[in-house]
Amino acid sequence: MAISPCPVCELQLAAPTPIPNTRTLALNCHRCGSYDLTLEALHMLRDEIGRQPLRRAITGHAIQQINSTGSAPHKVTQDWLQSVWTHGKLPSPQEQADIFIKYLGAANVPSGSWVRCNPQHLTGLLGTADDPTRSETSGFVFIVNALKNRALIEEESYPDPRSPRQQATA
Ligand SMILES: [Zn+2]
Repeated sequence: MAISPCPVCELQLAAPTPIPNTRTLALNCHRCGSYDLTLEALHMLRDEIGRQPLRRAITGHAIQQINSTGSAPHKVTQDWLQSVWTHGKLPSPQEQADIFIKYLGAANVPSGSWVRCNPQHLTGLLGTADDPTRSETSGFVFIVNALKNRALIEEESYPDPRSPRQQATA
């Protein structure tokens, strides 16, 4: 299958699928989640998302936030991008910690059981500034360590580095 970078975060993903007769593409990104993208918005992303360093992280996080409250996938349009770039910002570390605890809770496993976490997906969900093209996860690890220090979660002793697990003990 063809591979191309996500126009939002630049993570490599399967090539977008055109949705017939809509001038819209369907994309599925490990970091940003599933979203539909109009061709006009695609051009806007290509031309303008690189103009401010945090735009990629803010946009991916905004898509994940909408998908988590409504029926995925979110449709990304020029107007929506304009609004996100004008008003959007990344969550504070406290908000990121809250999102992560909520995510662990929603995994719906018995208290004390391990929840397998995909850091790439969680950097988008939590809205950290980590650059996926360099496989950065330090923003995510910061939140994990803060919650470990408060004894709200535990981390498995020898996790697979590509997919650490956290444990909700709250
Ligand atoms: Zn992405």
